Amino acid sequence: MSNKWKIFWVASLALVVFFQACGIHSWQEILVSTSNEKQMGREFDSLVKRGDKSVMSADESIFTPQTPAEQELWDYYQARAKEVVYAIEKKDLDALLPSGKECNKQTCNKDNFFEFKIIRSKTVNAFAVPGGYVYFYTAILKDFQSESELMSVLGHEVGHVVKHHSRDRIVKAYGASTIIDWLLGDGIGATLASIGAGFWLTSNSQDDESESDELGFHYTHKIGVSSQGLSDFFGRGLKSYNAEAGGTCNEKKESSILDVFSTHPPSCERVNNNTIRIIQSGQNLQTHPKNRPEYYVNGKNFKELVAAAGI
Ligand SMILES: [Zn+2]
Repeated sequence: MSNKWKIFWVASLALVVFFQACGIHSWQEILVSTSNEKQMGREFDSLVKRGDKSVMSADESIFTPQTPAEQELWDYYQARAKEVVYAIEKKDLDALLPSGKECNKQTCNKDNFFEFKIIRSKTVNAFAVPGGYVYFYTAILKDFQSESELMSVLGHEVGHVVKHHSRDRIVKAYGASTIIDWLLGDGIGATLASIGAGFWLTSNSQDDESESDELGFHYTHKIGVSSQGLSDFFGRGLKSYNAEAGGTCNEKKESSILDVFSTHPPSCERVNNNTIRIIQSGQNLQTHPKNRPEYYVNGKNFKELVAAAGI
């Protein structure tokens, strides 16, 4: 081995040891720091706040509560989201939070890092962008049949943030050098505008989806609400899903319908995997109800709060 190669290998090994010592696990993490992620998320959110047409269609707008009933729903949504954030493992949270003053000029903590928003829209979807910004459309809130569905999808989206899936997707889609240019220059807002909301709504990889499903399960189980909401929500898009028969569906019967949901694949496989997790955990509807009565607001469960708000 020549000296050049020796130096190369020793340097590479030293880098690996250095990254491990610093808790760095991937090259995306080296390229885009947690502060950079926060910056990206903040820029994206400012586009949403001003209703920029690059991220919102003409009939969409940011939801701010206008009536007492909307306020009740908003407070409920924020409180449930906070429960999910509090269920994140400490090591995951530590790896997520930027160390500088990135959260409204304060050091980020579990109370101020995540921001959960609602967008008035007819689209049934939810998505997360880097830096802890999570968006739910009013149409998905209306579609949920129970608190369990809300909590499962909240858990799933928080899972995407915890695992930095959006960061990794954007690095993969736009390449290292483009990302470095954005972060060094001041053009990130314009670039995010050109990417638009469409990018964040396109399909995650199956691996990312199952990883987030698993984390979503973990959070709902820890919180004490039924984890079947994930199966129920995605199962509604599947012909052979049977909530009563233990929340399973027949994988052989589903091939024809899957294309329709290609943007957010509700496959039998993920529904059945979720059911297996539920069975293995020993949770049932007595230990983990689909609607927890202790969180009803003036006698109303989640679905009734949505109906009262008339969103
Ligand atoms: Zn997802």
